[in-house]
Amino acid sequence: MYTAIELQRFVEQAKPYAKYGKVANYIPALSKANPDDLSIAIYYPDGTVVCAGDTEKNVTLQSISKIITLAFVLMNRGEKAVFHKVGMEPTGDPFNSIAKLEEVQPAKPLNPMINAGALAVTHMIDGTTVTKRFHQLLTFVHSLTGNAAITYSKEVAQSEFETAFLNRSLCYFLKQHGIIDEDVEQLMDLYTKQCAIEMTCIDLARIGLVFAMDGFDPITKQRIMPPHVARICKTFMVTCGMYNASGEFAIKIGIPAKSGVSGGILAAVPGRLGIGIFGPALDEKGNSITGMKLLELLSKTYSLSIF
Ligand code: GLU
Repeated sequence: MYTAIELQRFVEQAKPYAKYGKVANYIPALSKANPDDLSIAIYYPDGTVVCAGDTEKNVTLQSISKIITLAFVLMNRGEKAVFHKVGMEPTGDPFNSIAKLEEVQPAKPLNPMINAGALAVTHMIDGTTVTKRFHQLLTFVHSLTGNAAITYSKEVAQSEFETAFLNRSLCYFLKQHGIIDEDVEQLMDLYTKQCAIEMTCIDLARIGLVFAMDGFDPITKQRIMPPHVARICKTFMVTCGMYNASGEFAIKIGIPAKSGVSGGILAAVPGRLGIGIFGPALDEKGNSITGMKLLELLSKTYSLSIF
């Protein structure tokens, strides 16, 4: 088990890399983040949490939410329905790319981690209104974290809603090809709220732990999702969780993980621990530059790679 002092030492080693990264600004509200922030939490199956950095700070999930929504929709709709609308293959393209959508016939986003695939998955959250659908998703987040106080940042959701032209165009493409059949503005409302769900890196680590334990929460002794759902999610984390840097990440770090443009990273070391990181300075692929460094240090020192 790491000590807080060890973790703090790793944080100090990773922090200087922030100067090589940039905070996301295509969602205007995210540009307010401080690039020098860096925090990490590690959750163990016995409930011990070890932290370093300013763990009080909230991070919006952004793309990390894609893995949570996927788990939720797999549980409610089943594998067959989900993979009817979205594929299982990684792409070497950026998360918001529209390029490969035309290549697959009949049209189908290649995987649920790119935006087109994630929008198709969010579309599958059942319910008659956005409010009801979002409430269901949030309730699932509460059960994953054991924290019923978690909600979303209205500012970040609004900011993305006002500027998400590319995501809207992906939605129209999906609608043209019958992958979604709801009102695009309604889906954007739900998707931007989902991406703006905010929590601390401690909550993130707790979710990582649930995935690490195949969907079982060892603290509450409750099964949050069936093992096969957790296994599918972890597989996507490995093959496409770190955008188009997933291959290099698998080689250098080798831990199932999902990042978001807010600088959050959720990681799950199978059977062992959950990790939550917040470091808003991003590299050119959109991953937290200090978070990646931190994970590399942890993985090397403690042989965390699953390979
Ligand atoms: N809300 C962001 C978007 O759809 C999430 C992107 C990300 O974190 O990769 O553009």
